[in-house]
Amino acid sequence: MTVDAAAIAANLNAVRTRIAQAAQSAGRDPTEIALVAVSKTQPAEAVAAAYAAGQRVFGENRVQEAAEKFPALLAAHPAIHLTLIGALQSNKAARAVSLCHSIATLDRLKLANVLAQEMARQHRHPDLLVEVNIGAEAQKAGILPAALPMFLAQCHDLGLSVKGLMCIPPQGDDPVPHFTALTRLADTHHLAVRSMGMSGDFETAIRSGSTQVRVGTALFGAR
Ligand SMILES: *Cc1c(COP(=O)(O)O)cnc(C)c1O
Repeated sequence: MTVDAAAIAANLNAVRTRIAQAAQSAGRDPTEIALVAVSKTQPAEAVAAAYAAGQRVFGENRVQEAAEKFPALLAAHPAIHLTLIGALQSNKAARAVSLCHSIATLDRLKLANVLAQEMARQHRHPDLLVEVNIGAEAQKAGILPAALPMFLAQCHDLGLSVKGLMCIPPQGDDPVPHFTALTRLADTHHLAVRSMGMSGDFETAIRSGSTQVRVGTALFGAR
């Protein structure tokens, strides 16, 4: 795959401008909103191009792919912050802890246990977000909203410091009620990070309280 670095830089500027405008229209400070550049399926050269254009936070959804792509990038650019935004199997938790600076998909007690063990063993403490199954979808990962208080208490008992919540609203639904519900949950539990909004809906998410948008297609093009 050939990488068009100029196009990535232009896309990055356009997305940053849209984030700032959405924040301003909602009466929010644009610096409250972090941009995660979702680089899944994109080659390392695309990450390097975004880095050269000033982007620092990158999101991958598979540990295996991140482990192939990012060690060399991190060696060349130690300021890169890598966040895992895809489902994490327990048997990949050790690698995720060693590689990632944050994990946005803490979604079950077994994983919380394994992460707590690995973080103690490796003396590495990636920031953790709890994934919430905000639409209570049968097939979807994530903690049900009603189960969140108990899950956060269990994480606390394990010594895990949860920084925020993340969600992906049900496909086809109006995302606004879901984004608003996630913001309310984060407020209730005094969690600063609300990771919500993708290429198709990040401005809506910002108007609904997002502090972290995860954008792939609008930066790197179609996958
Ligand atoms: C792929 C992905 C994104 C980015 O999606 P785009 O529509 O390409 O912006 C965001 N969040 C998660 C969890 C993803 O898997």
